[in-house]
Amino acid sequence: MEIVRYPDPILRRKALAVEPGHEGLAALVKGMLKAMEEASGVGLAAPQVGQSLRLFVASESGDPAEALVYVNPRLEASGTMVELEEGCLSVPGIQAKIRRPERVRLTAEDLSGRGFVCETAGLLARILQHENDHIDGVLFFERMTEVDRVRIKDDLASLEDQAR
Ligand code: ZN
Repeated sequence: MEIVRYPDPILRRKALAVEPGHEGLAALVKGMLKAMEEASGVGLAAPQVGQSLRLFVASESGDPAEALVYVNPRLEASGTMVELEEGCLSVPGIQAKIRRPERVRLTAEDLSGRGFVCETAGLLARILQHENDHIDGVLFFERMTEVDRVRIKDDLASLEDQAR
């Protein structure tokens, strides 16, 4: 399973809800976990492997055995804004400090369709917000400061050139 890179338009699309009994979901998640591990990532959203579905995986340790699957998530962020360094497997070579709320409360379904709630802070809260952005078609550089956006402009342009 290949990881889709910026500027592929699928990354800017609002993904569709996963319907109950969606065929091939387990295989999709298995492939996503493998792709995440191979890329040494801590999270991966379905649009990043070319599937415009509201689903992502996340593992704070990067170990796929510890990853959770979040299907049809609904995320509420709260708390003070904190700055943390972020990168994105779909936007290789670019990193920046991004400000986001410290805490999240997320409700989602697992692979069997059972609902669960996750309340967390710190790194996992950060990963969940980054991945949740992906299923809304938002990329992390859109949340950078103006100064950082100027700084990465050439890097983004070269990713655009590579896609031509
Ligand atoms: Zn990302």
